[in-house]
Amino acid sequence: MNTTDTLSRDTQLVHLGRDPAGNHGIVNPPVYHASTFIFESVAQLLETRRDRASGAFEQFTYGREGTPTTRALEDAVTALEGGYRAVVTSCGLGAICASLTAFLSAGDHLLIVDSLYGPVRDFCESFLVKFGVQVTYYDPLIGSDIAHLVQPNTKVIYLESPCSLTFEMTDVPAIARVARKRGITTIMDNTWASPLCFRPLAHGIDVSIHAATKYISGHSDLMLGIAVCNEASFIPVKKTASGSGYCGGPDDVYMALRGLRTLGVRMPRHQETATIIAQWLQKRPEVSRVMYPALPDDPGHAIWKRDFTGASGLFGAVLKPCSEQQFAAMLDHLDLFQMGYSWGGFESLVVPTYPSTLRSARPWTDKGPSLRLHAGLENPDDLIRDLERGFARLAAAA
Ligand SMILES: *Cc1c(COP(=O)(O)O)cnc(C)c1O
Repeated sequence: MNTTDTLSRDTQLVHLGRDPAGNHGIVNPPVYHASTFIFESVAQLLETRRDRASGAFEQFTYGREGTPTTRALEDAVTALEGGYRAVVTSCGLGAICASLTAFLSAGDHLLIVDSLYGPVRDFCESFLVKFGVQVTYYDPLIGSDIAHLVQPNTKVIYLESPCSLTFEMTDVPAIARVARKRGITTIMDNTWASPLCFRPLAHGIDVSIHAATKYISGHSDLMLGIAVCNEASFIPVKKTASGSGYCGGPDDVYMALRGLRTLGVRMPRHQETATIIAQWLQKRPEVSRVMYPALPDDPGHAIWKRDFTGASGLFGAVLKPCSEQQFAAMLDHLDLFQMGYSWGGFESLVVPTYPSTLRSARPWTDKGPSLRLHAGLENPDDLIRDLERGFARLAAAA
């Protein structure tokens, strides 16, 4: 499609990455199961080698580097986010690791946001540090003051907004401006917003990453990642992702494309239900505070409103201090908010969170237990009754 810029996002979601005319009139792109692509001649084989060497990666040479199904998903998300090209990976963490290692070498310095998705912190501590990369965690509220943390060897600034578990909003354009001025590459985890609610590249970011495992797939049944790149970052990320073996599986890519079609219907519903539940929680005597930037009284609301066009269904809450038994009594027997990792699917989820163990730059001072909720597509009244019964169990366990 050549006219995508003039179409609304909902229309784009329906049509991007599809080519019925090139596929017997079939609505969805086929699933290509492939390791091997047959070359008709030495000349053709050499042409694909030149294609790779030039960094074009236009031609299909080997399954690890993608198939037409992969390309369909990459093209669709690229158009949604206003990127140059994208790279699909085996999972969201793979897209993050490939993007970080694409731009970092021994002796380089990485500035990375505190209170980010926990496994990325583990990757920094267990792998990047081992390979000689210096890592500094910064306060998510730092804004343009990040300039004071920049060193001559700073090569990457990594952002996630809102932050995992605690939902602080970072001033993305302010940090991107500092980075651009100094030639530092910026990588942002945009999973919370999905491609619909925030466009990192339009705010000065170089690489925007999604765990497509979450909202893009939307059905809690696959693992996939995608890194949307601007022109300068595409070749390094593509080479690192395929050179490290982070390729996505064909059926997962197909299902992610299918999930993408309904993203425009699902996201507003997730936001609406999350808002109803978050505001209900704010009024509960058991709750100390709710962390959801879409709420008008959230500390990050002004930035969210300025930069984002919507919110997802994922938010946090801190309870007033209570015993471990009381907290477990509440969470253990919820019917609709089932307990499990991940989020972004059609169903509601809850997990207890332990933010103090995952931060070093900005201390966690709340005393009560905290949790993360994902508002699924169920009826909000049913979800509220589920939580209400949970609070009754919490009180009874005192
Ligand atoms: C889940 C998640 C990831 C990792 O994605 P996987 O597909 O599970 O590897 C990255 N960032 C955020 C914010 C996530 O929630």
